Amino acid sequence: NENALKELAQKLHLANGAVAVLTGAGMSMESGLPDFRSKDGWWRGIDPMTVATADALERNYELFREFYRFRIETAERYAPHEGHRILADWERGGTIRGIATQNVDGFHAMAGSRSIAELHGSIRTARCQRCGQEATTASFVGGQSCAGCQGKLRPNVVLFGEPLPERAWNQALAWIREAELVLVIGTSLQVAPANQLPRLTSGCKAYIGLEPADGSYGFDISIQGKAGETLAALDALARELAP
Ligand code: NAD
Repeated sequence: NENALKELAQKLHLANGAVAVLTGAGMSMESGLPDFRSKDGWWRGIDPMTVATADALERNYELFREFYRFRIETAERYAPHEGHRILADWERGGTIRGIATQNVDGFHAMAGSRSIAELHGSIRTARCQRCGQEATTASFVGGQSCAGCQGKLRPNVVLFGEPLPERAWNQALAWIREAELVLVIGTSLQVAPANQLPRLTSGCKAYIGLEPADGSYGFDISIQGKAGETLAALDALARELAP
C-alpha cells in the first residue's frame, strides 16, 4: 500500500487538475452511515432492490415512504468526514475537476464540494411523482401529497429501473473523458450504468476501497483501505510534492 499511495500521489500531482472522482456508499459508511445494501444491514430484512423501485412507489407507497423516511432521517444524523473535506479542498485547489457520486446523502456538498454530479439524485429534496413540482422532504416524510395536484411525493433519487438524470450523467462523462486520472472510491461497481464510467477513460485508473476491485476493470493502482484514511494519507503526500 505504501508504494501504491506514493504512486497515486505522484499521478494526482502530474495530472494537473485533469482528475475525475467517482464515489460510492463506502465513502459515506466511514461517516457512520449504516450499510443497508448488504444483507446484514437490510432495513426490516427487506432487500432495497425491491423497495427502491417505481413499482413500490405505485403499489406499496406506505412501505416506500417508510423506507425513504428511514434513509432521510439516518442521513440527517451523520455528517461528512475528513475524506469529504479533502476532496472539497482538492477541488478548490485545482487538483480535481469534479466528483461523480452514486451517493444520495448530499455529504459531498455539505463538505464544500461544488462540482458534483449526483448520478443517483439526492434524498435532500423531493418532488411530485405525477406533475414533477418540487416539494420539501419534510412534506414527503410527513405523508403529505402534492400541493398542486395531490399526486404522490417522492424523494429526488433515481429508483431502480429509472434512467439517470441526463445532466449529471453527461457531466460525469465529460469529466471522465477529459481525465488523465480517474479515482474511484468506496464503490463495489455493481450498479449500472454508473459502474461503466471507469471503463470510459483512456487515462490512469485508481481504486480505493476496503475490498479489492473487480479485476475486469484493470485498475492501474489499487489501494485497500478506508476512504477517509487513505485520502488523508494521500493529501499529506501530495503536499510534499506541491511546489
Ligand atoms: P456498495 O454498498 O455496493 O459498495 C460499497 C463499497 O465500499 C464496497 O465495496 C465496500 O467494501 C466499500 N467500503 C465500505 N466501507 C468503506 C470505507 N470506509 N472506505 C472505502 N470503501 C469502503 O455501494 P455502491 O457501489 O455505491 O452502490 C450502491 C448503490 O446504492 C448505489 O446505487 C447508491 O446510489 C445506493 N446507495 C447510496 C448510499 C448513500 O447515498 N450513502 C448508501 C447505500 C447505497
